[in-house]
Amino acid sequence: MAAASLSPSPTVPPVRRLFDSHGRVIHDLRVSITDRCNYKCVYCRSGEGDELYPELTIDEYLRLIQLFVGLGITKVRLTGGEPLLRRGLIELVQELARMRTLDGDPLDLAITTNGHLLTSLARPLKDAGLNRVTVSMDAVDRAVFERVTRVPGSFEKVLAGVRAAREEGLVPLKINCVLLRGFNDDQIEGFARFARDENVAVRFIEFMPLEEGRLWSPEIVVPLREVVERISKVLPLSELPQRDAGETARRYTFADGVGEIGIIAPVSQAFCGACSRVRLTSDGKIRTCLFSQVEHDLYGRMRSLLKGDVHESNTDDAQKELQEYICRTIHGKEARHHIGEPGFLKPSRSMVHIGG
Ligand code: SAM
Repeated sequence: MAAASLSPSPTVPPVRRLFDSHGRVIHDLRVSITDRCNYKCVYCRSGEGDELYPELTIDEYLRLIQLFVGLGITKVRLTGGEPLLRRGLIELVQELARMRTLDGDPLDLAITTNGHLLTSLARPLKDAGLNRVTVSMDAVDRAVFERVTRVPGSFEKVLAGVRAAREEGLVPLKINCVLLRGFNDDQIEGFARFARDENVAVRFIEFMPLEEGRLWSPEIVVPLREVVERISKVLPLSELPQRDAGETARRYTFADGVGEIGIIAPVSQAFCGACSRVRLTSDGKIRTCLFSQVEHDLYGRMRSLLKGDVHESNTDDAQKELQEYICRTIHGKEARHHIGEPGFLKPSRSMVHIGG
């Protein structure tokens, strides 16, 4: 792995830190490293196609991520598709763990995964330097879970993966659950008990119009208010203070402090004003918002600047130009999404091809 050639050259000072025209500082990078997935969750994938977009090499992801880190990114989350399917993942995490932020600190390194392969990968990922994992689980009932994922045996695999990750210290361990009325909204109270039994933070996420098919409607979204009301009836909740201004989840705990519930409500209580994120797709395009109508071809620029040979050592000029391009792109980040408003347009890529 060409880690040495990825370090920012001391002769090229960082252009500036990333901020947009709405005054938001961007320090959180989500990188999709494949758009392949081994699950066919009913609300995400049609289950008919597989990957649509090319993957870059691990070295190429590292080069692109290094450009962002040189502009003030402090947190990198690997996602997909299913990131644990990606060959070279452990080497990628090892190299990311060696990078330093502009303040000289290690990156905050996380992965979002469906957990299917975590039992065998939790230890190598921890050893490679990963800090945390978020596991997606949309039911605590085996039959409901398998109806959502459309993969037999998936519930046992994921539960074992969650436990393996916790044992390896990939904590705080978060469980993401997307609620859909009529599919899995009967799981809310069960998830509250699961949060306590497994001592994890369960975060309910409102369903967004980012699916491959056509399922989304305002009626299928289970709003934050309803989740809190229903859990409070069986287990009293107390709200936790916000940790920082960019926090997307409203957090709650139980009377004895064991387990945590988070509510992420991008539809009913959008948090765009506090957004600190930018995304890089598996084929190296920058997306400034999940709902962007345009993408910015950072990888294409890197290739043309390096005359098609991205394996040759980078030049200071190319690095500077690419970082200026990133700054300009992020400056134009959308103020907010327009879900549910008249004229709302779904983005051309679905969640699995953007990187959730
Ligand atoms: N395969 C990995 C996983 O399952 O976590 C990472 C990719 S997946 C696209 C990332 C997250 O996006 C998952 O938690 C998934 O539930 C969520 N997701 C997918 N489609 C969504 C949608 N339309 N609205 C809200 N969340 C969605």
